[in-house]
Amino acid sequence: MTKITPQPGIMDIALYVGGKSHVDGVSNVVKLSSNENPFGPSPAAQEAVRRSVLDLHRYPSTDHIALREAIADVYTLHADQIICGVGSDEIITFLCQAYAGPGDEVIHTEHGFALYKICALAAGATPVEVPEHERVTDVDAILAACTSKTKLVFIANPNNPTGTMIGLAEVERLAENLPPQALLVLDGAYAEFVEGYDGGAKLVHARDNVVMTRTFSKIYGLGGLRIGWGYAPKPIIDVLNRIRGPFNLSGSALAAAEAAVRDTAYVEKCRIENTRLRAWLAEALAEHGVPSDTSMANFVLARFVDEAEAEACNAYLQSQGLIVRQVGSYNLPHALRITVGDEASCRRVAHAVGQFKAGAR
Ligand SMILES: *Cc1c(COP(=O)(O)O)cnc(C)c1O
Repeated sequence: MTKITPQPGIMDIALYVGGKSHVDGVSNVVKLSSNENPFGPSPAAQEAVRRSVLDLHRYPSTDHIALREAIADVYTLHADQIICGVGSDEIITFLCQAYAGPGDEVIHTEHGFALYKICALAAGATPVEVPEHERVTDVDAILAACTSKTKLVFIANPNNPTGTMIGLAEVERLAENLPPQALLVLDGAYAEFVEGYDGGAKLVHARDNVVMTRTFSKIYGLGGLRIGWGYAPKPIIDVLNRIRGPFNLSGSALAAAEAAVRDTAYVEKCRIENTRLRAWLAEALAEHGVPSDTSMANFVLARFVDEAEAEACNAYLQSQGLIVRQVGSYNLPHALRITVGDEASCRRVAHAVGQFKAGAR
């Protein structure tokens, strides 16, 4: 028997299963399983990556000042309260590493993002799952679950995979009533899809117990480069910077993100197109007898009669070259999460769901 064993909690982590990207024997596949931007990254970001290859022999910036200032300019934030990471995944990892350990509790919701639980377990802490109310974050249920051991509370707003969100007054009530040792993390991965929404930035300014995370993987179309950021009170940024690797982001990633964040016209165009196609897709699915909650993000959570129907529809869509996401691991076995693609993809997936509902298998 080996005496080499990992830290407690590690073997309780279920391996993350990502969105599929191909189907054996099917060509012309459309991937609608990972909430990627169907229009790709901004041309300015692409050009920045091309230019960055000339400097690949150089170590990248360690303080990320150019990117932090670009983010601060565009979002009207304070650059010294921003931390950049290898996706917002890394910011979430830092938060768990820094603020939760054995004996501590980390709250996430019933249909919350998988990474919160993974990172809590990796830090040796205890994840605590709290019910939602009809696929919407339930502030009262979260507050009822808080104890003297609660160190972190994660909510995504809008949430993945439900697409629903709660209003600022509810978020504020949550932050206000948390126990004093608990930090609220507002995951704003989809914030840019909501017109006029700041992701909770003003709450970060107003309070000392709120952190916001953001990403370049969704509306910015840079998931392949792995860039995210966090916005927090300065004492928390100071803590997170102590565990951040000095060269965590590559020069190419930094250059791409800076160009992408400054290309506000491109982001606006993507947001408008997403809003239009999301409404079209939800309505087309509803006409085929497949309801969904009003989504505020770049996907629709399509609900089927039961798990068997969702599985059968998933198989049929795959046979048609359409890859969507099963969400059984998010306690939603009767649903499929469908990313809002370009217009042709939306039409293809709505048509195929209609065929399925009409009896095609
Ligand atoms: C996609 C997603 C992220 C982004 O993760 P990255 O590591 O930045 O790619 C974060 N939170 C939620 C809820 C997401 O759906």
